[in-house]
Amino acid sequence: MQISWELFTVNKRFPLTISRGTTAASTNIWLRIEADGISGWGEASGFSLSSVQKYQTAAILTELKTISSQLEQFHPWERQKISQFLTSISISSPTRAAIDVALYDWLGQSLAIPLWRLWGLDLEKIPQLSVTIGISKPEIAQARLKNWQKILDIPIIKLKMGNPEGIEADKAMLLAIRELAPTTPITVDANGGWNQQEAIAMSHWLASFGVQYLEQPLSIEAESDLAKLHQESPLPIFVDESCRNSQDLLRLAPHIDGVNLKLMKAGGLTEILNLIEIGRTLGKKIMYGCYSDSSLANTAMSHLAPLADYLDLDSHLNLIDDPFIGATVQSGKLIPPDLPGLGVKYRGNQTVKYSI
Ligand SMILES: [Mg+2]
Repeated sequence: MQISWELFTVNKRFPLTISRGTTAASTNIWLRIEADGISGWGEASGFSLSSVQKYQTAAILTELKTISSQLEQFHPWERQKISQFLTSISISSPTRAAIDVALYDWLGQSLAIPLWRLWGLDLEKIPQLSVTIGISKPEIAQARLKNWQKILDIPIIKLKMGNPEGIEADKAMLLAIRELAPTTPITVDANGGWNQQEAIAMSHWLASFGVQYLEQPLSIEAESDLAKLHQESPLPIFVDESCRNSQDLLRLAPHIDGVNLKLMKAGGLTEILNLIEIGRTLGKKIMYGCYSDSSLANTAMSHLAPLADYLDLDSHLNLIDDPFIGATVQSGKLIPPDLPGLGVKYRGNQTVKYSI
């Protein structure tokens, strides 16, 4: 097979602030494999799990340059050999994700069926989408909510917390949102911005406002504090940064109620399927999330959407220059295309501003 890739920069309509900082733009990579006249597409984007654990786009690019000639020796049907090769060289998870998704896209197109049909999934089971509001002052959060309301009828609001100014600032943002949306379900993601004491206190306070669950209340370095938090928290505890793959899920399972699965952390749809099976077996709730991904990666996840309890796949909805067209929002749900493979179309990238 032949492999090609390109950097592309996507800019956010509204910069997103989480406990570890603000993102206004992201340079990602699209990857294309070609064989037998069929092209399969995948995406890799950088991300961080903490202030020290980061995956940079530049490093992904270096990996692709290093391995592409070896990868080209394989045919897309040789998935086991490709998987063994990628494991043998300890490839990073975002690079693996791009290759894995491109192979699935190629497979679906070869078979001339959408991936969700390949997996026999029922689109009626897709849960509603949440939209994210980053850490901000109360009036800015309200303005962001109003802008989301212009784009879609919001089913679920996801609020970013762990404000460096402290939990009183987190509370002020929630109160401002509740003023405008008194009954809309809310989930909270602290991105590891609280300590154990703050997380327990916030869980009790947030429970009285109808919040559904807490995502990654503690940092990945504070994993040993999860057990007590889980015991004392009235809200279900989900992990995101702490759980990249199946091994992490098995380790954390006794102290969590759910997990946020992402393509870039897991290393592709193959490992996402493993995580779903393990999570279900252990009785955990499953949510899907994203980084600064374009429609390409989020459409890949949308094909598995019927297997999720919660969907936080909204990054592409906040882009002004998404080079891909794929899954569409219909009645508050992200619906995968009824086209072979991923069903994603490349419309080119208008922004030639590489930031790495
Ligand atoms: Mg998260």
